[in-house]
Order: sequence, then structure tokens, then C-alpha cells
Amino acid sequence: MKYIWYGVFTIVFSLIILPSIIVFGFNSHKNVSTSTVEVQLVDEGKLIKLTNTPNYENINIFIIGQNKLQKMNLEEYIKGVVAAEMPAEFELEALKAQAVAARTYVLSKEIALGGKGCELHPGADVCTDPQHCQAWESVEDMKKKWGENFDKYYKKISEAVEDTKGLVLIYNDALIVPAYHAISGGKTENSEDVWQNKIPYLRSVVSPGEEEASKYKTVVTVPKEEFISKLKERQPSLKLNSTNLLSQIQDIERTQAGHVKSLTMGNVVFTGKDIKEIFDLNSTNFSFGLQGNNIVITVIGYGHGVGMSQYGANAMAKQGKTFEEILKYYYNGVELIKIEDLFKLQH
Ligand SMILES: [Zn+2]
Repeated sequence: MKYIWYGVFTIVFSLIILPSIIVFGFNSHKNVSTSTVEVQLVDEGKLIKLTNTPNYENINIFIIGQNKLQKMNLEEYIKGVVAAEMPAEFELEALKAQAVAARTYVLSKEIALGGKGCELHPGADVCTDPQHCQAWESVEDMKKKWGENFDKYYKKISEAVEDTKGLVLIYNDALIVPAYHAISGGKTENSEDVWQNKIPYLRSVVSPGEEEASKYKTVVTVPKEEFISKLKERQPSLKLNSTNLLSQIQDIERTQAGHVKSLTMGNVVFTGKDIKEIFDLNSTNFSFGLQGNNIVITVIGYGHGVGMSQYGANAMAKQGKTFEEILKYYYNGVELIKIEDLFKLQH
């Protein structure tokens, strides 16, 4: 019986919770709610029950700021996602890689292709809430953000999207879960170290060149008493003494990429995710130090660390790598294909 429940949990996790936490780039790495009900990938990425090529090029997007549902051309929508999810200053090949990841994600949700759409907004394929679906910005938002650079950046983003028009990522002839994040901290994560499920194309790889990102390393300073009281809010049974505090933090278990899986503080075991949430850290790759009456938490990286590192992608592009090389580096064993050719392959 125990195993049955474990199986049920695994299925619920992989179909419902996992897709809700895959895409957290610059816009959306924090405050991840795992209770959010989210769509499943279409039959694990297989586009199902389609006899003819469907009209997939218009998507229904729920715009949070305007509280309305709007029909939009797929490629125009992708421009808004790339603008919102990656700095326009990035290299063109990195922006192209981002465009392909964003397209793969939205097509796996599209109702016209048999997907479930955005379950928080009936009738919508996606919403613009970065905590739920995928961040997106309107042209007006971009004008405000970029000011006098608007023409230059809009042209660059448009080029990244148009040059990759229709391209998606597949593994075993199915759309992939295109997880991405801002900064891995030098090495990406194996999927099962973060989400339990072992996904063959989400393997740990070294991700050099991220150090120049301003948020590569961040420091959070917390007075000792506040440190203890915040932990007690989460775990009232915690017994932690403010003297020799660091010596009461033990058994730190880390993933292959160096992120904290779990640790013991006093009499309680916390996960790295607990600590990240409690102290609002940028990632679970952290270490503790002491400075006078304060606990100093040093954090490396930004985001969950699974899949493509956006800063790593930019570093590869600077070295002359193409978007295809970048994507195939961060997503192990995947193929690039035009969505129309995927329909032919699957039917
Ligand atoms: Zn949504």
C-alpha cells in the first residue's frame, strides 16, 4: 500500500507540481508555491489525438496586469517572454536559446494541441504570472523598461525569435520540460536532486563564466536572535542556543552541484529549500558564518539550478557558441525540430 501511495505521489508530483516550478529565470526565482495547481505536460510531451495539423499559431494568453484574456500570435508572444525572462543586453545566441525554451514550454500547455492550458485562468493557454506560467511583457512595458534603447533591443529580441521560428526541443519525440534559471553557481543540478524525478536530459553540467553576474554571490546578514526566531516560526519544537550557534549546525548534505539538500540545526532537520524560503535566499547553495552578533549567510547562484543557466548561456554565446550548441549542452541528448515536423513524427 505504501508503494502505491508513493507511486501516486510521484505521478501527481511529475504531472502537476513539477511543471509549475520549471521556469524560473530572472523574473521568477523566488516565492515558489508548490501548492499551485498547474497543468500537466501533454501526455508527457506527446501531442495527443490530433488527426490534422491543428491551428496552434494563435494562443490565448491571460494578461495578469490587465485582468483579461487575449488572443495572440505565438511568435509575438515569445518576443514578450524573451524580453521579460532575459536581459536584452545578452548575446543574440543566448536570446535565441531562451526563445526556443519559451516556445517549447508554451506549446506543451497549448489547449489546441491537447494541453491543459493555465488552470488558474480557464480558457487561457498560459498566464503572464511568472510564479505560475511564464513571465511576459507587452511592447508598452518594453518601451518603459528600455527607454531610448527600445528600438535597438526590440529589434534584437525580434531577430532572436524570428531566427528560431517554430523551433522546439524534443527528447524521444516528445516536447521536453525546458527548465531554466538565472545562475547555477558553477554547476547545474540533476533534476532528481531538486524535484525527485530523474529526467534524462536534465543532468548536472559545469556552467563556467557565470561569475561576472552581479548576483553570482550574495550575502544575507541576520542577527542571531532573529535567526533563531525565524527558524522557530517554521519549527516550534526547535531547540537552538544562541551561544556556539554554528557548532549546532551539522550534517550538511549537498547535491552534486553543491546545493544544500538537508542539514541539522539543534534537534531539527531542515531541507535546503526550507532555509531558502525562511531567509529569502537566492538559491539553496549557501553556507553560514559568524560576524559579531550576526549570522552571515553566503549564497552562490540564483534560482533552482536545473536545466539551462541563463548567465551560462550568455557566457557560451560570448565564446562563439550557437543557440543550438547552448541548448544541447544544458539539455542532454535533446533534438531541435520544427513544430510542424514534430506533428508529422507523432502521427
Ligand atoms: Zn498560469
